[in-house]
Amino acid sequence: MRTYDFIMVRFGELSTKGKNKSDFIRVLFANIKNALKDFQGVTLESRYDHIYVHLNGYDYHSVVERMQDISGIQGLSLVCRVPNDIEEIKSASLELIKQEEGKTFKVKVKRGNKRFELNSEEITRIVAPVILKNTDLSVDVHTPDILLNIEVRDEGTYIFAKTFPGAGGYPLGVGGKSMHMLSGGIDSPVAAYLLMKRGVKIECIHFASPPYTQEAVIYKLIDLLKKLNRYQPQIRLHIVPFTKIQEAIYDNAPESYCITIMRRMMYRLASKLAKRRNCPVISTGESVGQVASQTLQSMHVINEVTNIPVIRPCATMDKLEIIKISEKIDTYEISIRPYEDCCTIFTPKAPKTSPDLEEAIKFENRFDYETLINDALNNIEVKIIE
Ligand code: ATP
Ligand code: MG
Repeated sequence: MRTYDFIMVRFGELSTKGKNKSDFIRVLFANIKNALKDFQGVTLESRYDHIYVHLNGYDYHSVVERMQDISGIQGLSLVCRVPNDIEEIKSASLELIKQEEGKTFKVKVKRGNKRFELNSEEITRIVAPVILKNTDLSVDVHTPDILLNIEVRDEGTYIFAKTFPGAGGYPLGVGGKSMHMLSGGIDSPVAAYLLMKRGVKIECIHFASPPYTQEAVIYKLIDLLKKLNRYQPQIRLHIVPFTKIQEAIYDNAPESYCITIMRRMMYRLASKLAKRRNCPVISTGESVGQVASQTLQSMHVINEVTNIPVIRPCATMDKLEIIKISEKIDTYEISIRPYEDCCTIFTPKAPKTSPDLEEAIKFENRFDYETLINDALNNIEVKIIE
């Protein structure tokens, strides 16, 4: 049986990007190369508008599966290349289409090589009858189950019928970098993944409050980031000591304002670190209305401390949708491990759902938070997860 020679990578959204296109292809090429580095013998080639992965005898299943996680790929086609010879084209077409499931087919021919003796229509009129005669398939030119593509080029004829969906979006890295607030809950890893799909790289910031929060939370974060390494091979995690700030908040503000002020402090820290690390935006797993600190009024009061854009990929999703994605990217089981984080420990009985900005400012001005923030930033622990 004929085996596939290449995987042809389709860019989708990239194709519309005009002058940035070559940059995108370069980044995507590097990302694919990195993702496939453990597949011995598999090589890459960039040609015209496509990237080709040469299987060199490698079974395509695992390669395709790995590539389906790479953002910026619209689709993957398994391709056979034969010499520009109508007999070869006929027999390869028949063999490939026999491996597909369906009742109807259509032959689609592109002739890039104008010196080939037959034109597109002639090729179709030779190949289609061979298929009709040797299979149970019938022709459907509008919605065929199987689309058999034949592309005649200078170096040979490419034939493909099997196509897999890619992850879509943009290649990781072309969208810049975000300072992502990672909590260890369900939402923030999902938000990170959604950003990566859009081509945005992340660095993570986590606020730890030992001894109130346990060291085990950090292992949980590392496990979560290892799952996300599938989409971004190297992730920097900044662990910010948050205990003193949290204690100062609870010493100076009424319980109902503690969450609001705590989150204002988190945003201040994240914004400062973002600037330091050249991230033009910060991001979170917040979702509108999910908890007291995520009502629109709370978001307004919390967001007031920074002018850096805050991206909230989960903003309008409901919990079930978010959980579905977390299951897909395999972070759910890790996220539900029952460790306390700094939010759960200090959660007041009655947090304000509509905090007042003036009040929040009044309470936080009772202590010198600028100094505490700078101290915390100077004592960050960094881990690289790869
Ligand atoms: P998650 O499931 O992501 O923890 P959540 O529903 O528990 O979200 P909150 O605890 O209010 O909601 O947190 C909202 C967002 O704030 C989180 O998604 C995360 O981006 C950020 N965040 C919360 N706690 C921390 C923390 N300790 N360190 C870093 N970021 C945090
Ligand atoms: Mg949380």
